[in-house]
Amino acid sequence: MGIKVCKFGGTSMADGNIIRAAADIVNADPERRFVVVSAPGKRFGGDTKVTDLLYRCHELASSGEDFGEPFSKIRARFEGMEKELGKEMGMRAALDGIEAEIGAGAGRDYCASRGEYLAARVMAAVLDVPFVDAKDIILFSADGTLSEETYPLASSVLRKYPRAVIPGFYGRGADGEIRTFSRGGSDISGAVVARAVKASLYENWTDVSGFFACDPRIVPSPECIREVSYQELRELSYMGANVLHSESIFPVRSAGIPIRICNTFRPADEGTLIVSAANRKRRGSAVTGVAGKQDFTVIFLEKSMMNGEVGFAAKVLGVLSRYGVSFEHLPTGIDTLSVVIDNHYLQGGILEKIVEDIRREVHPDSVRTHEGIALVATVGHGMANTIGTSARLFKALSDAGINVIMIDQGSSELNIIVGVDNADCAGCIRAIYREFFG
Ligand code: ASP
Repeated sequence: MGIKVCKFGGTSMADGNIIRAAADIVNADPERRFVVVSAPGKRFGGDTKVTDLLYRCHELASSGEDFGEPFSKIRARFEGMEKELGKEMGMRAALDGIEAEIGAGAGRDYCASRGEYLAARVMAAVLDVPFVDAKDIILFSADGTLSEETYPLASSVLRKYPRAVIPGFYGRGADGEIRTFSRGGSDISGAVVARAVKASLYENWTDVSGFFACDPRIVPSPECIREVSYQELRELSYMGANVLHSESIFPVRSAGIPIRICNTFRPADEGTLIVSAANRKRRGSAVTGVAGKQDFTVIFLEKSMMNGEVGFAAKVLGVLSRYGVSFEHLPTGIDTLSVVIDNHYLQGGILEKIVEDIRREVHPDSVRTHEGIALVATVGHGMANTIGTSARLFKALSDAGINVIMIDQGSSELNIIVGVDNADCAGCIRAIYREFFG
């Protein structure tokens, strides 16, 4: 019998009713032995996620202000769940303890992690299985990244449990304090647990029936992708298709564990299966999906005979690294080089300084910058074997009157990325979707 790890996201933990539905899903399959949960998310538009309330409490407490108002909302949510589920779960005492810790100056990550901690206690009580604290199995290195020591530790701890519920999002830092992943990081926790217990499947339960071929806010009711490779998904989720945290692929990919995206609200739906490229059975069209992200800057450099100048690119990149700026793409021509940078690195006039330094160090014939660029990635393994994919793509863009500012095709032929004006982002995605999905 295989082991399945189920991770339930914030909307699947939002109130007592949906938690009960999630527990029924777990109980319906004896292979579903380990459950990882997010903090309760939004119940309706305009609602606030518990994690956001916790960050607010920390912000107020650390500036000496009263955090009673946001904390009372957190209290109401967990005590409300206890009532809805008709079971005493010790929420009151747990919440009193957390309130006291926040008041006594607990760290930001500790505060943020308490939503998952309490949610896991609720789920453990509903399923009547042990609660295993993430701080005892997930370790962070001093640089804040996941420590490889996590796997042997988690595996030796979890081996003792036939079933367990584990809070997502956090673990223990090298200093013994609670550390969190980045936002949405419970997906990573689920993947880590799946790898530690050598799961046969990592089920990620959310509020959509899988991964769409493009953002449904841009194209209404787009196709759902039935099967996608880890690499395709990583490209799509990095580019803004945010069903799954983009870093959650790594732990399971190296162990060859497939991920299924499932819908807690429609558990019978097939969802999306994420597998390695080699195991991908369904090969439909050349393109698997299209996704876009706004707010990049491109620095275009031109210099005659650049191709013969040893170290040109190294010097340009050296300037970026001096400013602690990483780049996204580096499309080149014989006499041209463009660097694409995420705007969040360029706050506070850094761009001007970078351009000045580049001018001084490599003496280009011209330097231009274009801020406010969107990158749109068309992703699919099938493109590698399908002649004419890029012709179709660029024809679709020209028919839609979209000006392409930059093109970058990954050498694996897994993606074609175009840079367009921010204002053209949605139109670009729409045009590509229409061309390949009809
Ligand atoms: N609760 C955390 C967040 O809102 C982590 C998660 O839900 O995955 O980002």
